[in-house]
Amino acid sequence: MLRCIPRTLGPVTITLLFAAAGPADAQAPFVMGGVTAAPGTIASGDLNVPGGAGDDGTAIPFTVIHGSRPGPVLALIAGTHGVEYPPVLALQRLRASLDPRTLTGTVVLVHMANMPSFLARTIYYGPKDGQNLNRVFPGKPSGTLSERIAFILTRDVIDRATHVIDIHCGDGNEWLRPYSYWVVTSAPAVVAASKDLALAFGLDHIVIDTERPNDAAASVYLANTAMTRGKPALTAESGGWSRTDEESIARVEHGVAGVLKHLGMRGDGPPPVAHPIWLGRNEVLRSQFTGLLYPMVEPGQTVAQGTIIARVTDFHGQVLEEIRSPFAGEILYVVATPPITKGEPVGFVAERAAAGADIR
Ligand SMILES: [Zn+2]
Repeated sequence: MLRCIPRTLGPVTITLLFAAAGPADAQAPFVMGGVTAAPGTIASGDLNVPGGAGDDGTAIPFTVIHGSRPGPVLALIAGTHGVEYPPVLALQRLRASLDPRTLTGTVVLVHMANMPSFLARTIYYGPKDGQNLNRVFPGKPSGTLSERIAFILTRDVIDRATHVIDIHCGDGNEWLRPYSYWVVTSAPAVVAASKDLALAFGLDHIVIDTERPNDAAASVYLANTAMTRGKPALTAESGGWSRTDEESIARVEHGVAGVLKHLGMRGDGPPPVAHPIWLGRNEVLRSQFTGLLYPMVEPGQTVAQGTIIARVTDFHGQVLEEIRSPFAGEILYVVATPPITKGEPVGFVAERAAAGADIR
């Protein structure tokens, strides 16, 4: 390349050229799961989850898109629940579209966090242990399969990242309008940066969640595990009901593009959401009975206090319960398939935060 330098370059220019390529901008290789991504390249591999009592373990497929220049390490996680497909398909597209040569920092794509649940097509719970992966963080190295998956994700992905986005949608039985969760913990700087992530991702309905644990040893949820470890994080929801619709997939791609721009990892991208709708009081409504569920509302619908959200009957057609909204608000998701088990969700309602409220 030296012969390409024009003769007109003086000593000052040459000094600047070398400064730009100097150690301060050197990006080290990124090693994960036994594979190495050199700067400006892509590498894929599997994180091994060792076997335990009653199972042979599993694998977590990932891709590292390692930029030419150092910067944030953004972890994007799909498939925490097994029948949530648009985030999984969006990450497949991002693997093909993100260019490591023009990227600042590193994107870690976790293509399938919960392989056992994906392959067995189970909603909510892992097929081996009946546990919800997004309720067992930070996991245990020698626990159930779900707990071991959580442990590996915590150690090998969350602990390596600077920012984490756990991308969900309505599970296989859930009909959902897009929204995200902004979690408010006791760490103001992490909370503020997480709010900016939510705005950058671009979903205009944002649930303010103030009820997640602050204890890193009992963080329960994936995104909360990142936050209790000092990393800004977000849980996003786009799509649902077992569908693979283009709109829900593209919405995730759009959100990631916004975050990449916001974090300075890529020069162009969509702006943050201009007019977010903050949702304060919120409640997952649950069935008191096992039987058949008849949803009476749609996601996005505004409901009054007392509006019937769903009816539950027994298997002989007798109405067991009418589940009503405890306050006026908007339906974010409703369970839209007939099976219902006592204690399980039937819908999620949230109320707009009061105008002028102090949104931290
Ligand atoms: Zn989910």
